[in-house]
Amino acid sequence: MTGIDFSSEEIRRLGYRAVDLVAEHLERAREGAVRSSVPEELRRELMEEPLPLHPKDPEELLERLRETVLAFPMGNSSPRFFGWVNSPAAPAAIVAELLAAGLNPSVAGGDHAATYVEHAVLRWMKELLGLPAHGGAILTSGGSVANLIGLAVMRHTATAGRVRAKGLRAESPLVVYATAQAHGCVQKALELLGIGSEQLHRVALDRERRMDVDSLVQQVSQDRASGAHPACIVASAGTVDTGAIDPLARLAEIAERESLWLHVDAAYGGPGILAEQTKGLYDGLPGVDSLAVDPHKWMYVPVECGCAFVRDARAMRDAFSLVPPYLRSESALPWFSEFGIQQTRGFRALKLWMAFQTIGLEGYRARITRDVALARALQDRIREARDFELAAAGPLSITCFRFVPAGQHSNEQTLDELNRRIVALVQEEGEAFLTGTELDGRFVLRACIVNFRTREQDLDALLEAVRAAGRRVLGDGAGDSSSPARAANPRE
Ligand SMILES: *Cc1c(COP(=O)(O)O)cnc(C)c1O
Repeated sequence: MTGIDFSSEEIRRLGYRAVDLVAEHLERAREGAVRSSVPEELRRELMEEPLPLHPKDPEELLERLRETVLAFPMGNSSPRFFGWVNSPAAPAAIVAELLAAGLNPSVAGGDHAATYVEHAVLRWMKELLGLPAHGGAILTSGGSVANLIGLAVMRHTATAGRVRAKGLRAESPLVVYATAQAHGCVQKALELLGIGSEQLHRVALDRERRMDVDSLVQQVSQDRASGAHPACIVASAGTVDTGAIDPLARLAEIAERESLWLHVDAAYGGPGILAEQTKGLYDGLPGVDSLAVDPHKWMYVPVECGCAFVRDARAMRDAFSLVPPYLRSESALPWFSEFGIQQTRGFRALKLWMAFQTIGLEGYRARITRDVALARALQDRIREARDFELAAAGPLSITCFRFVPAGQHSNEQTLDELNRRIVALVQEEGEAFLTGTELDGRFVLRACIVNFRTREQDLDALLEAVRAAGRRVLGDGAGDSSSPARAANPRE
């Protein structure tokens, strides 16, 4: 098999083989090690391979991929993967991804089926989140771009549309409020939008690491008094460190009273609205001005798939569209490219459509509820254990804890070092996978459950892996910190 186009027979052969490899990957993920380190030799081979000059046989390439790329996965298909916020992908949605590439439309807009599928899944997303049906929405690469889109519409509205032609140079500085627990992409978005990170005013946290409402109100009035232009509250509905949810209902009231835009980053936590245990924390959601959510996180859709929502669909279009208002037809569906950043857009909607269809809203409700219940079960185990200490138990599915062996309670620095080395060692051993983060200046282990494969016994396996690593670190003798810490990015 060579060349660029293949016969139907060849396409089938190649495709079936690829599906076999996916099945094999998922089968291994359910049983074996979560992951193993890429050998130095392979790392070099992958990175330094010369540009291919002549055609190669795709079937042979699949075999090569099997031994190289597929043999060293990130690990998130495994039931014992607890790192960052990375879920396994629902198999039916994986297959939909192949179909989407097979059709290969550009979903910028226009009259072809893919456009209508995206409209349907966007409506379902609004329904799932309890957002008004008339709002504007679009699928994005992920939460970072979804947050950027929401904040771009905020900027457009806060400057009465002037920003598109004039930039921000004639405007009084816009002030945006968020806590230090807000995701890093919020700062990035404000930098990209020319608002600047100094205009991101950090609001104090309450004891549960949520935005402290009284501090916010005070800051807004002080900023107003000093001539600044308070413009926007960025609330988190599920922070990445602990899963904290800012008090959305009260923030919606304040935003209304103070004429502030309320943007909610629900990239991870959005689907938590379905969980029996936590749905009450989302009471303010219907009133938000804009929101970001990531179907590629807690909705088990293959990466990449994010979603941006803006209550005022017209403002969303005005912020991006290059079609002058007098040419906009009321009867025709507007193009997606008028509501966001991209022109050519992939058929992301199909995998989300497939996930919705095969899981169903009730299936999601059950699985999200179960992930939260598993997190609470993990927290119970940690509370009961003598050698573990619970550091944070957010309302959703993230647990922060430390390994604290007898006699080590007092020395914080030693504990930080011990737990850092545990993360590196657990990752290296591959029995389970977790990452770490910092809370109040202390290093903690962090386990996130967005995983329809995880069962109770996987929680025990995780704690055992941490214990075993802890014992090994202690047994190795203190002071040796040569093991590489690979949990480089806790803010995913
Ligand atoms: C993951 C995440 C983001 C960023 O989204 P990407 O999909 O990684 O671009 C933003 N906010 C929160 C709370 C997240 O969990």
